[in-house]
Amino acid sequence: MTGSPVLTMRGLTVDYGTGAGAVRALRDIDLTLHRGEVLGLAGESGSGKSTLAYAVTRLLSPPGVITGGDVHYHPPAARNGTEAAPAPVDLLALSPRELRSFRWQELSIVFQGAMNSLNPVHTVHSQLTDVLKAHRPGMKAAERTARAEELLSLVGISTDRLTAFPHQLSGGMRQRVMIAMALALEPEIVIMDEPTTALDVVMQRQILRQLVRLREELGFSVVFITHDISLLIEFSDRIAIMYGGRIVEEAGAAEIYRDPRHPYSDGLLHSFPALHGPRRELTGIPGSPPHLSAMPAGCAFHPRCGKAFAPCAERVPVPAAPADEPERSVACWLHHPVPADSV
Ligand code: SF4
Repeated sequence: MTGSPVLTMRGLTVDYGTGAGAVRALRDIDLTLHRGEVLGLAGESGSGKSTLAYAVTRLLSPPGVITGGDVHYHPPAARNGTEAAPAPVDLLALSPRELRSFRWQELSIVFQGAMNSLNPVHTVHSQLTDVLKAHRPGMKAAERTARAEELLSLVGISTDRLTAFPHQLSGGMRQRVMIAMALALEPEIVIMDEPTTALDVVMQRQILRQLVRLREELGFSVVFITHDISLLIEFSDRIAIMYGGRIVEEAGAAEIYRDPRHPYSDGLLHSFPALHGPRRELTGIPGSPPHLSAMPAGCAFHPRCGKAFAPCAERVPVPAAPADEPERSVACWLHHPVPADSV
């Protein structure tokens, strides 16, 4: 179902602040989004999920600063009319002008809380057509309106709501308008940062089902960020679990659900009721996530981990495939040989 890479991050590192007071929010992130897939990012608050989304889209505002690594976008082969894939685009090297054209056109982002993202004094029509006006200057007004109607229909909203202001729509409709806007220029990548957190569970699932259907119809790729791992299991192809600014486990959604290898993933999965099959005990995870300014040495999860042993408090486990599962990556000493000089 998934194809070639569309977005790659290698060694991506982000600090908040500079000099002695700087805290590291993202550490050496290696992650690949494949064409046509939904990649879920899970983790508690402060794990670095949103920082990653902001870093990739170059929307980090001070004191956030990217201090290492690279992010590349891989355009589809058809774009330059040849069979060969165009050269990857270095997102961290784009000028502000290039970035403006890149966003919306190749990559768009849907934030949590549509009411904060939509302009309350402009109609849905005006906000949808503004994107087209800015990025498709050759489009005539009637064409823009037709496209705005098409976009609303795509997300299941009647076209007579084009003239509505955001406050005249329900929360679910507003979030759908945001998704319509994100799809306006048919981007290759849509990043969704907690897109349905403010909605009730029925509406959440309706919107996410619709998004997955649209992904199948239009072929874009999705990075779906949420603290709710049950939603990710249901709607993602692959899941990366973050803790303390690192990715601690990455595998197919079904594999993570069936057999979480990292104790933190296991704790997250035991924090919500089973989706199918027999009931399981809800145990949660003891303690709280670490503060960025006081990250524990070694494995950042060790103060909360029921399986911690000798090397955990001193050595940082590096993500790698367990010997019996090359498709999975897990950063935990339970699954890799402990270096001989460890205590
Ligand atoms: Fe637990 Fe050690 Fe694995 Fe960290 S490395 S998750 S502390 S067992």
